Amino acid sequence: MSFADFKKRSQSSINELTKKIEETNKKESYTDDRFWRPELDKSSNGYAVIRFLPAPEGEDLPWAKYYSHGFQGKGGWFIENCPTTLGQKCPVCESNSELWNSGVEKDKDIARNRKRRLHYVSNIMIVSDPANPQNEGKVFLYKFGKKIFDKINDAMNPEFEDEDAINPFDFWGGANFKLKVRKVAGFINYDKSEFESTSALLDGNDANLEVLWKTQYALAEFVDPANFKSYTELKTKRDTVLGNDIRETVSDTTTTAETVSESEDSTPNPFDSTTETESKGEETDALTYFEKLANE
Ligand SMILES: [Zn+2]
Repeated sequence: MSFADFKKRSQSSINELTKKIEETNKKESYTDDRFWRPELDKSSNGYAVIRFLPAPEGEDLPWAKYYSHGFQGKGGWFIENCPTTLGQKCPVCESNSELWNSGVEKDKDIARNRKRRLHYVSNIMIVSDPANPQNEGKVFLYKFGKKIFDKINDAMNPEFEDEDAINPFDFWGGANFKLKVRKVAGFINYDKSEFESTSALLDGNDANLEVLWKTQYALAEFVDPANFKSYTELKTKRDTVLGNDIRETVSDTTTTAETVSESEDSTPNPFDSTTETESKGEETDALTYFEKLANE
């Protein structure tokens, strides 16, 4: 390249750099356009048909599973991945255990509000999206909670003898999933969602399926230790957000209306990282918090 060309490029390189920075930031923000979410109408109803896709190239599982915390204290928001995902200690889960074990109802409520939330992420293809038809036929990441995972699990392990086990993630023997979203008692509810009968995706055309498979996103990053802060970092952040008293809360009702979970009292300690209990409010994912932050 001549020096004259080099000089000419110096302005455009700023634009390129800016664009790159924007792309990087985008991936970290709640507007990450790799993710699809059902669009809900004014009464919080939503409908779409999606197809769960197999493990992406080089990976073993068609989903990634991780935990995160999202809550507000007087020192701001705590929105972080929970290291119990990786089998490591978490300072927030620890203070939640302490609150829960006190047996005091008020403490238990605080612990519920700060509990770790379970997330799954899978690749999906949008079969039908009436609210956004431009998404149809495209591959996205989809983040969901225990309720939908239970439906997947039920399909793989049916309860009754007359039902055939299916692998919903299979291109050829899987099934489309009718996602039906409603709001029930203040919670986003997926109970009416169901699998259709089995069908090969894209009419089972291997060439087209291969193209689709190659466009799937890697899932490994969601459980990559690099995306989890250390115990010390998290403890510092927790102390900044909560102050010295883990019982102190902010009187901001927006943190409770949609996120506080329902009766978990049947389990000895839902904050013990060895238990898998999750609540009805599970599917209210951390994105809600990011949206709130963005609107502030
Ligand atoms: Zn935790």
